[in-house]
Amino acid sequence: MGSLGSEFDAISEALARAFGNEPPSSPVAIDPFRNLLRLVLDAQRGLRVDQAIEALDRAGWSDDPEALSAVDPQELSDLLRDPRGKVPAGVVPLLLRIASWVRDHGGMDALGAIDTETLRDELRSIRGIGSTTANRILLEVLRRPTFPISRSDYRILIRHGWIDPGAEETEAREVVEGTVADDPDAMLRLAFWFESLARFCKATAPRCDRCPLQPFLPEGGPLDPE
Ligand code: SF4
Repeated sequence: MGSLGSEFDAISEALARAFGNEPPSSPVAIDPFRNLLRLVLDAQRGLRVDQAIEALDRAGWSDDPEALSAVDPQELSDLLRDPRGKVPAGVVPLLLRIASWVRDHGGMDALGAIDTETLRDELRSIRGIGSTTANRILLEVLRRPTFPISRSDYRILIRHGWIDPGAEETEAREVVEGTVADDPDAMLRLAFWFESLARFCKATAPRCDRCPLQPFLPEGGPLDPE
């Protein structure tokens, strides 16, 4: 059974044929704080992200961490209320916490001087920011070569025998990061490919016969992720 690293060139070719070879476009350089907010909101259930971002734009808070961090929570809650009058629990304090974190560092540009491990630890210590979201922020907003492992990514890695079923998230992430070290564009493309594989690699039953990774399965087929 090969490792992800040893078969990576052939795997990349197969995935590029199936899903294309361009890294997803990234507008983050233009408006990084707005994109950070979008990514954080995207991870919340029951929220219309586009409407929430537009409301923050109108209020002038989507590009100003200092202003957002000082907003009255009730005012922010009123702004984000959907047509049914609801705001998902935890969204308002989470936005205030993330804005305060950026403000305390002196703005988005200042984050560029901080090493990746420190940023990862700090992001994960913010209540409401999970490991996948922290790593997505690192990759998609701060352009650090890190790989945000989702549940379906984890499942794919186990089914191919590229990690052990009991592997920690950090170990799984490092296995993937080792294939395209220090290249955020390559990492973005890889994350897009893995996301595209999720439609085949369902939790209940993998559809390997239609999947571009089928030639890279272990002998005997996919391993059990449980
Ligand atoms: S070949 Fe099967 S196990 Fe591998 S990613 Fe595709 S669906 Fe999942």
